Amino acid sequence: MSYQTQPVRLIGGRLCLDFLNTADWSARGDVVHEKLTGPKDLAIWCRAVSLGKRPDLDDPAAMGELKAFRASLRWLFLAAISGEKPKKSDLIRFNQVLDFRTPLAPLAVRRGAFAYSKDLSVAQTVGLSALATLTLPQEIERVEICPSKDCGWLFLDESKNRRRRWCAMETCGNRAKARRHYQRQIEGGLE
Ligand SMILES: [Zn+2]
Repeated sequence: MSYQTQPVRLIGGRLCLDFLNTADWSARGDVVHEKLTGPKDLAIWCRAVSLGKRPDLDDPAAMGELKAFRASLRWLFLAAISGEKPKKSDLIRFNQVLDFRTPLAPLAVRRGAFAYSKDLSVAQTVGLSALATLTLPQEIERVEICPSKDCGWLFLDESKNRRRRWCAMETCGNRAKARRHYQRQIEGGLE
């Protein structure tokens, strides 16, 4: 599974959530399918979310750290959603990523549009997005997790009645529908 063979699907509604969805996750929090198999995939993802070139993009050593950050960030979101206390190590990792030791200008204007400064790493842009969502009650209370097995994608439910259940109808939603249909057929056959 790689973005070189399948398109980037952006369904999170926030940069930080789409970043967490660069893998499929088991209920235990393990990566089931990895989409970021290397710097090439990361570059494709960055282009898809309009981040463009980042200082850490071509550094294979940075990939490991980025994935560790992704795992920690996901645990922070799961803690925030369920109202549980986050693990200290996850909190420390997050704060380390946003610990700007050298003065950085985080905001830039490119071609007339506001943008993350090109000096920020992928993790830092994602971290800033996460900071905004994690700390805003009206945002975090709308973050949902797709209940489909081995998906675990996170998304902001912006539907009017908060009835969005699946990451996407065309994938997990349809799979569930097909399963229900199949189940009904079996039950019907037994009668
Ligand atoms: Zn899903």
